[in-house]
Amino acid sequence: MSTSFDRIVTGTVVTTDTVLRDGFIAIRGEIIAAIGQGIPPQAAETIAMGDKLILPGLVDGHMHTSSSTGWPGIESASRCAAAGGVTTCCDMPYDVPLPVTNAALLRDKISWVERTSHVDMALYGTISKTGGVGAIAELAAGGISAFKLSTYEYDAVRFPRIDHPTMLAAFREIAKTGLPCAIHNEDQELVETLTADARAAGRTDPIMHCRTRPPLAESMADLEIFEMALETGAHVHIAHSSIARGFTLAEQFRGLGAQTTAEACIHYLCMTEADIVRLKGFGKCNPPFRTADEVARMWDCLLADKIAYISTDHAPWPRERKTLDDIFACGAGLTGLQSFAPLMFTLLNERGLSPTLMATYCAERSAKLHGLWPKKGALRVGSDADLLVLEQGDFTFDERHLVDRPEMNWSAWHGQKMCARVTATFLRGQMIWDGDAVLNQPGDGKFVPRL
Ligand SMILES: [Zn+2]
Repeated sequence: MSTSFDRIVTGTVVTTDTVLRDGFIAIRGEIIAAIGQGIPPQAAETIAMGDKLILPGLVDGHMHTSSSTGWPGIESASRCAAAGGVTTCCDMPYDVPLPVTNAALLRDKISWVERTSHVDMALYGTISKTGGVGAIAELAAGGISAFKLSTYEYDAVRFPRIDHPTMLAAFREIAKTGLPCAIHNEDQELVETLTADARAAGRTDPIMHCRTRPPLAESMADLEIFEMALETGAHVHIAHSSIARGFTLAEQFRGLGAQTTAEACIHYLCMTEADIVRLKGFGKCNPPFRTADEVARMWDCLLADKIAYISTDHAPWPRERKTLDDIFACGAGLTGLQSFAPLMFTLLNERGLSPTLMATYCAERSAKLHGLWPKKGALRVGSDADLLVLEQGDFTFDERHLVDRPEMNWSAWHGQKMCARVTATFLRGQMIWDGDAVLNQPGDGKFVPRL
């Protein structure tokens, strides 16, 4: 039996708890076979990354490939993931024309992933507005990583509001599966009334997006879902808290015995209300950006370990849906897969924090919540050899380098200084991004069922 390895990647290895200078990752087949420091062992191929950082490939626990284009969006969004060092995407179910509400639709989406994705992908499932609770067991059996429901309705079919009695019944069923249930958390009546008032006053300018979706719209929704979590025993997860209060509430309900968690998207750790005024439609997402004081409180939550994980909520819309004069008419969602790693590294670096926090909150924690760890999100012997390689330096993020469809290649971080860039991505042992081009083929990515 040969003791040598197929491939060795040398560099500064960053795990969740340590930074190994002169480190190496040894790969056999698709799997990490050894991790060490110093002179690396023999291998068929050695790729020297110098002093670049080698992290676990990121696991984005929340993103949308198919909100605007349907499943053909899987190919182009996953290309951005490859270029961004995101090796596993957990894709949301609110797809055009139909959301993933039963086992047959799930099988169809899995076949699209396996034909078109550049990276590995886990999938969320959801329920239809009425009569959908009966499909919960078959979706779980089909391998979804989590459920997603909403307290707010964007569309009665694609993205419905689930009323309280239906949500309660759904939580009881979901509790039996042991899967988490992420919730889009905004109060319908409050947002609709404030939006109607703003329109009546002739105010459709960008800041009104923040004014019509105030923090209270989130925290009221958080309380409803957490009360039902306490009642049913289901693991209920806020899909995005833009406010520190969401994390505090999750912690308080855990103290009462509920299984409650909350997630931050990376934009809530840096963007403020001033940014939507500057960016207009390109800064519109739900929930909206908050104040600089709130961003500071979000960091306090992160450092107090109250945040389950950090995601992108990547949701690409074509430019024509982001450049309308009426902010309420613009599509809600940012692009984020390609900026995720350099931005997270930069935000940590600015605060003097270790990149080990990126391995923790953007890989291990999201993989754990989605039942993918330690196959995914880990630099451990036996894990998939999914690697993100970062070069440190002075860079400017440029949306012209995005690799989505041309009409989707815009970024809220265009022109922003960043102190890292992604110079390589490895998926199950193969280099799929070399800093310039995506090297693998559509369909090289696989569906990853919950373990
Ligand atoms: Zn989302």
